[in-house]
Amino acid sequence: MVIEAAQQDRAEQSGAAKTRSGGLPLRVSVFGATGSIGSNTLDVLRAHGGRDRFEIDTLSAHGNAQKLAALAREFGARRAVVSDESAYGALREALAGSGIEAAAGPRALCDAASEPVDWCMAAIAGAAGLASSISAARSARVVALANKETLVCAEVPFFKALTEAGNRLIPVDSEHSAIFQVFETRAAHAVERIILTASGGPFRTWSAEQIQQATREQALRHPNWSMGTKITIDSASMFNKALEVIETARLFPVSADQIEVVVHPQSIIHSMVAYADGSVLAQMGEPDMRTPIAYALGYPERIRAPVKALDLTAMGRLDFEPPDLERFPALRLARQALEAGGGMACILNAANEQAVAAFLSGRLRFGQIAELVEAVMAMPGLDLGVLDLEAIMATDQAARAAADRLITHWAEKG
Ligand code: NDP
Ligand code: MG
Repeated sequence: MVIEAAQQDRAEQSGAAKTRSGGLPLRVSVFGATGSIGSNTLDVLRAHGGRDRFEIDTLSAHGNAQKLAALAREFGARRAVVSDESAYGALREALAGSGIEAAAGPRALCDAASEPVDWCMAAIAGAAGLASSISAARSARVVALANKETLVCAEVPFFKALTEAGNRLIPVDSEHSAIFQVFETRAAHAVERIILTASGGPFRTWSAEQIQQATREQALRHPNWSMGTKITIDSASMFNKALEVIETARLFPVSADQIEVVVHPQSIIHSMVAYADGSVLAQMGEPDMRTPIAYALGYPERIRAPVKALDLTAMGRLDFEPPDLERFPALRLARQALEAGGGMACILNAANEQAVAAFLSGRLRFGQIAELVEAVMAMPGLDLGVLDLEAIMATDQAARAAADRLITHWAEKG
């Protein structure tokens, strides 16, 4: 398990992930720089000196050329990449005279991710980030992985690339950063449970009927976290937690039935590990992604993050409740995908990405997101028992096509 190796290294190898002054990595790339995680990452880099301290190799975006160019200029990046080729002209224009290389397209994205760097933030949204995460696993000494889809869909090629190159993964998803921080590798045999916390999202107290009809605006109103659109919808449907249950199973040496989900509406405890002696270790903090990002940047040291200090007395109380699998079927589907193995988690993810896009464009009701994922998972012939990236992408595409056919069919039925 890559995570175990990383943890063991903590004591021995305090020089790892370090290059020059202050123990921080020197050459850094940020994929998905214009997004929510990307912005938080750049904030942490700014707090530690920005371009005066780091050599920024690549910043990437999909189509937002203006914002990407402004960031590339601010950070003195070597290269800026848009994966959407139609944004290339705008990027070149916005970078004119800066000396910053402009590139475009999925191939250019993977080429940029193949540049050797000390630290790479993988924060592209969705399965679109798989190929570049795997390239980064080969060439970045540390991959700070926010893109959970990489682990859900492509754990085999990702870990293969990482271990063959001797590189290291530090999880950035707040729950997995929390678990990583309190998981005692030397006591792995004594780990009884991993307790993954979930905010419960905006519909935590809503009835099944209300959830069925929830609007886009209601689903986008997350009570605690400010995040990208797709993951915010996933938090409302609990598909985010479903992906995170799978992510946990990929990262830590526990079986699926040792992963428990607990709803914790305040999002202060980011997850916990329960040991055989009755101890439960938790990591707490304000719901601010700059904490896990700073942890991943500074590891194995702890560095300052530009976040509010946690004030427990102001908070007053922390609540916990079991998740309701009837109103939120996503968690049940995640366990089903883990049990099925092969490419089922990739199918779940692809169907959910299509369902969320259809919900956002008004073609699906909120309650139909989980129905659609379940229907696609039940379709015969989609699972290729994936192992390499090519087969994973084929499964992903087949699941998306099947989901789209159903969405059209359901929309026609009304
Ligand atoms: P955002 O939607 O805010 O940002 C996505 C980034 O990826 C943008 O830079 C966007 O570029 C780029 N992008 C979008 N589509 C593509 C594509 N097809 N190819 C290449 N790049 C693309 O997402 P988040 O920052 O919220 O999430 C990023 C990842 O981190 C996801 O996997 C998410 O699950 C994970 N994560 C996010 C958390 C959060 O707090 N936001 C917490 C934990 C995990 P452009 O701006 O040009 O569209
Ligand atoms: Mg999370």
